[in-house]
Amino acid sequence: MVLGWFMSLECKQCQSKKAYLECGICKESICKKCAVFLDAEAFLYMQDTPPFLTQDCYCYTCFSEKVQPLLNSYYEDVEKTKEVYVFYRTQGKETSQYKRTFPQVTTDNALDEQDTLMRLAYLAVRNNCNALVDVNVQAKKIRDHAYQTMRWSGVGNPVQIDADRLDRAENLRRFLQSR
Ligand SMILES: [Zn+2]
Ligand SMILES: [Zn+2]
Repeated sequence: MVLGWFMSLECKQCQSKKAYLECGICKESICKKCAVFLDAEAFLYMQDTPPFLTQDCYCYTCFSEKVQPLLNSYYEDVEKTKEVYVFYRTQGKETSQYKRTFPQVTTDNALDEQDTLMRLAYLAVRNNCNALVDVNVQAKKIRDHAYQTMRWSGVGNPVQIDADRLDRAENLRRFLQSR
């Protein structure tokens, strides 16, 4: 019905008639001024992100009730990710005392070594771990027509360690700063 189509273009928040966008959750029409857009970095390291967190835009109500709380805890996890201790596969001697009780984490399609480590460390944090051992990072050359790009992937085992017994210089934050 034509009338319905016109009505649906009214912004649910400010009643502007230029509501050309749709909230990704409640599907109601919103205008550009009222719509909340997610930062490109939002939920970047999350795997299997639920579809409602990957929508183009949200109305303020849906964003503040359903997205913002998860975004806050995501960024808290990202801060913890920077504190994760990283031990490479070649450091087996140093890490032999740590129990590997959590399933191995993997990532691919990372941008570089730093991104690979952040993605793995984020998964460690999600497992309530503060360290990664047996880490192996690999770069593969990918030919895409005229371009040649690198595809980075990595594996690691999340572990819980007593960080007080370690030199703080070993954690990911220091590691990333040293690059
Ligand atoms: Zn509006
Ligand atoms: Zn909504």
